[in-house]
Amino acid sequence: MSDTIDIRAGFCAILGLPNAGKSTLLNAALGKKIAAVSPKPQTTRNRIVGIVNRPDAQVVFVDTPGVQHGHNALRKYMLDEALAAAVDCDVALLMLDASDPRQRAEDALERGAAVELWQALARLDAPAICALNKVDRLRDKALLLPWIESLSRLGRFEEIVPMSALRGTNVPELIAAIARQLPPGPRLFPEDMVTDRAESFLAAELIREQLYLQLGDELPYASAVVVEQFEERSGGDVAIYAVIYVERDSQRGIVVGRGGARIKEVGQRARAEIAKVLGCPVHVRLHVKVAPEWSSEPRGLRKMGYE
Ligand code: GDP
Ligand code: MG
Repeated sequence: MSDTIDIRAGFCAILGLPNAGKSTLLNAALGKKIAAVSPKPQTTRNRIVGIVNRPDAQVVFVDTPGVQHGHNALRKYMLDEALAAAVDCDVALLMLDASDPRQRAEDALERGAAVELWQALARLDAPAICALNKVDRLRDKALLLPWIESLSRLGRFEEIVPMSALRGTNVPELIAAIARQLPPGPRLFPEDMVTDRAESFLAAELIREQLYLQLGDELPYASAVVVEQFEERSGGDVAIYAVIYVERDSQRGIVVGRGGARIKEVGQRARAEIAKVLGCPVHVRLHVKVAPEWSSEPRGLRKMGYE
């Protein structure tokens, strides 16, 4: 008898406005520590942000960074990027913030605050689950029922789950609802993918993401982030030392910024993001180094973690 017969496994894309509580949900579902991250360190597409293993299911959560960070003019482009990440998913999770009256509004999805998320969902074939997060902040719980009813009238959601990622309320129920939509099949990743290596990859990715957000088009094409030290200290915090490699002195100046302002901002934001996923205090030290033509040397490539 195969032990994979009753298992469901697949990818779940998380969609939600900034601050909906996506990272908090992941931390809660993963039990603080990130379970695994993408083996490809340099992509932000289809970025695996966590793998939840249950006896009967494996849910591989994929971040949709565009929706999370997009705003203003960038928004449309970023939404397309997010969709590209979500398009191969087996199930989509839409997370709404119950403490935000704009997201609770009757027309929030069709015309209001979350219309872009709704449009994104409309373009996906995957079944969808809706999570109503932060219900702990909802003074009047009687508001939930009509909200759930109007959401279910949209006919897009298989299940609608009120929950609190912060308190852990209904998190197992949400995971179960997601798992019900996954195809039957064996786990896609080993159950024990917890390694420091994965965590340092993740740290490098989050630093890279901040570099991209801060520098945009100015980010030199041939740049790489290498986490040289990833140290779990006895106090429960993590110290990260990372080097950002660029090819020319002029590029170094761009990344460092006037008076070091840019690199400082990148470091601070990356620290906050890494702390969220690791669930512990994090220190980040960044250094920008010039390594001429590293990208054309095999040895250089290996050093950057491409092999
Ligand atoms: P993300 O931008 O979607 O990843 O949102 P975060 O997970 O970073 O959460 C944004 C803020 O909402 C943080 O301050 C969280 O502590 C808070 N938050 C997340 N989930 C809940 C919840 O269930 N209840 C309450 N009261 N706060 C929450
Ligand atoms: Mg987040």
